[in-house]
Amino acid sequence: MREGGKYAGDERPRLALLAHAGEFPNVFVDLEQDVPVRLDVRGGLIRSRHDFNGCPQDLDNLFAVLSAAGDVPKVAFTPAGPDEALRAFDLLRQTPGMALAMGEAGVLSRVVAKKFGAFGTFAALSAGEGSAPGQPTIEEFKTLYRWDSIGPRTAVYGVIGHPIAHSMSPAIHNAAFAAASVDAVYVPLLTPPGAGPFNRFMDALRERPWLDWRGLSVTIPHKENALAYIGAARCDELAVRIGAVNTITISPEGDLRGDNTDYPAAIDALCAAMGIARAGLSGRSVAVLGAGGAARAIVAALRHYGARVAILNRTVRRAELLAEEFGCTAGPLGAAIGGEAEIVINCTSIGMRPNTGECPVTSIPESTKVVFDTIYNPIETQLLARARRAGCATVTGVDMFVNQAVAQFEIWTKGIAPRGVMRNVVVRRLTHTTGH
Ligand code: NAP
Repeated sequence: MREGGKYAGDERPRLALLAHAGEFPNVFVDLEQDVPVRLDVRGGLIRSRHDFNGCPQDLDNLFAVLSAAGDVPKVAFTPAGPDEALRAFDLLRQTPGMALAMGEAGVLSRVVAKKFGAFGTFAALSAGEGSAPGQPTIEEFKTLYRWDSIGPRTAVYGVIGHPIAHSMSPAIHNAAFAAASVDAVYVPLLTPPGAGPFNRFMDALRERPWLDWRGLSVTIPHKENALAYIGAARCDELAVRIGAVNTITISPEGDLRGDNTDYPAAIDALCAAMGIARAGLSGRSVAVLGAGGAARAIVAALRHYGARVAILNRTVRRAELLAEEFGCTAGPLGAAIGGEAEIVINCTSIGMRPNTGECPVTSIPESTKVVFDTIYNPIETQLLARARRAGCATVTGVDMFVNQAVAQFEIWTKGIAPRGVMRNVVVRRLTHTTGH
């Protein structure tokens, strides 16, 4: 129990049981490093050490000691962030065995271990039933992460953010890699807020070119950190104006590139619904509800393509600041939308699950032909249902979300993304988890 086991009895019967197990061929017995006995095991002896409080200082030396003491060395530690979890691969590259970073920040170590020829990994039989924190289920290893197809040349991608547990990006990108037969795997990277943790992870990646790490999706709260780390000169121009990078590409030579696929995702979803090219937005009148991160990206892009934009927000000062920066008008959210808006875009969280009965507007203006809600859960919000009944074309947050992932896939692989597969993953997840 002192190393996380569930056995609560005396040591002597425990060792007798393990010795008995060792009499069978093909059975591996896992014995903690500090147990001062030698077990004669026919299958193989795993010598292990578990640290639930941190990462042992002398990790390399410890792994060597465990390796000398048995057939398979195993160390499980608790990383402060995914940068420290990468140390597991430093060990596996030297000595085949098991090196596992526990907890949510360590999930990548359990999945990517296959690339480095790990002896094995630990999977939970079902969600919440793992023997240590952070274990994916067998089903997740097999179908989400495609454990069986991971090999030495597999490229690695991930999503960096905080929180990250409910991100749909691992499901969407892994399914896309599978459908397009791309030898790659995509993992969640729980990284605490702040430039420090973000920069440490990026530095740790770049120190290890042998990881074949080729890209990152970046989400809240790290989009600004990503831009600062990469530097404006190596980022898309509009991403720099928006102040946020959501896509990092790493070349085989280690060069970094930053893009923002949120704004083209939104603009292209809108243009598709209107049957126009981006240039066709010029001169159109748009009411943007909200003045947060999503609004900023969409306003910047709308203005870039020449639309006339009114920003309406609960905190009017925030709308005014955004309006000043991009040459728009500003007003309060509660006011009726100005009579001439042809396009209405909701960038607030009003109407998002669980508050699905709420709507950011009291009425849809007569002039409005298209309504776009960036919220994707639920897929059809109150606002979109009203717009549909009023005869407007509608654009959902799912359209935008799928577009940004499609754009990431195409930037990274330079191939055509399996859009239908990616959309199905998102729709299935949203309907499955929320009981649509
Ligand atoms: P954010 O930066 O936190 O901004 C939130 C915005 O919503 C602010 O304008 C805020 O107004 C407003 N707001 C929040 N609660 C409100 C309330 N009760 N009443 C009135 N206004 C309220 O968030 P964000 O990142 O921009 O995200 C905004 C929305 O965009 C979310 O629903 C998110 O799901 C969606 N989104 C979708 C995608 C996609 O791919 N589909 C991508 C990104 C974001 P104040 O300024 O007054 O606080």
